[in-house]
Amino acid sequence: MRFFQLSIFAALIAASAAAQQAADKPKPEDTEIWKPVPAVVTPGATTNTPPSDAILLFDGKNTDEWVKVKDHTPVTWLVHDDILTVNKDGGGNIETKRRFKNYQLHIEWRIPENITGSSQARGNSGVFLASTGPGDDGYELQVLDSYQNATYVNGMAGSLYKQAIPLANAARRPGEWQSYDVVWTAPTFNDDGSLKTPAYATVFWNGVLVEDHFELKGQTLYIGKPFYKKYDTAPIKLQAHGDKSEPISFRNIWVRELP
Ligand code: MG
Repeated sequence: MRFFQLSIFAALIAASAAAQQAADKPKPEDTEIWKPVPAVVTPGATTNTPPSDAILLFDGKNTDEWVKVKDHTPVTWLVHDDILTVNKDGGGNIETKRRFKNYQLHIEWRIPENITGSSQARGNSGVFLASTGPGDDGYELQVLDSYQNATYVNGMAGSLYKQAIPLANAARRPGEWQSYDVVWTAPTFNDDGSLKTPAYATVFWNGVLVEDHFELKGQTLYIGKPFYKKYDTAPIKLQAHGDKSEPISFRNIWVRELP
């Protein structure tokens, strides 16, 4: 009888230790911030044509500047009507063939008018300002329907995912074209891989400043605290997010390399 009681006692202790371990395991929710919610600002009507020294990454004609991230084969996203639409069944994320360090980027994106879903599963994509390799999270400027779509604010459009909440919500309604203009200052590293200078990002969303020379703490991670990993130059990546909502489109993508 006594042995039986001891066994139950031991089992209870083991179960409680396991529960504690599960509670200690990092979760996506640990790094979500929901409040305060950025003020809504209605953007002006903007257009942006590339300046003379821009490298055209997508001008409406083809995807020659891009490859699939997973195997560097030609992309199978859809080019139609001068726009590029995510193909969620077509091999996932894409990235530029060219590699960049510091740059100015212009990119336009459109959430479909008939978008469905909510929170992170509503028009989710992303512009990864440095796609630092398979297995890395990289540095994501979030793309999402943030027009009357509540989510954690450090994961809404205009956020540097889970690090920088946008200074305002400049979202246009689904069906309208939106733009990001980004200044990316790449991080630099010492020979031993330690961080020398951090990455900075400045972002205008539909012409509204939403990230002001924000100093990143490392890669933008889905789970856990950000950290840096040494890289020199990297492609720019676009995300084919796995949610079930209608795929979003891009157009007029150009970049200017900075010293
Ligand atoms: Mg995303």
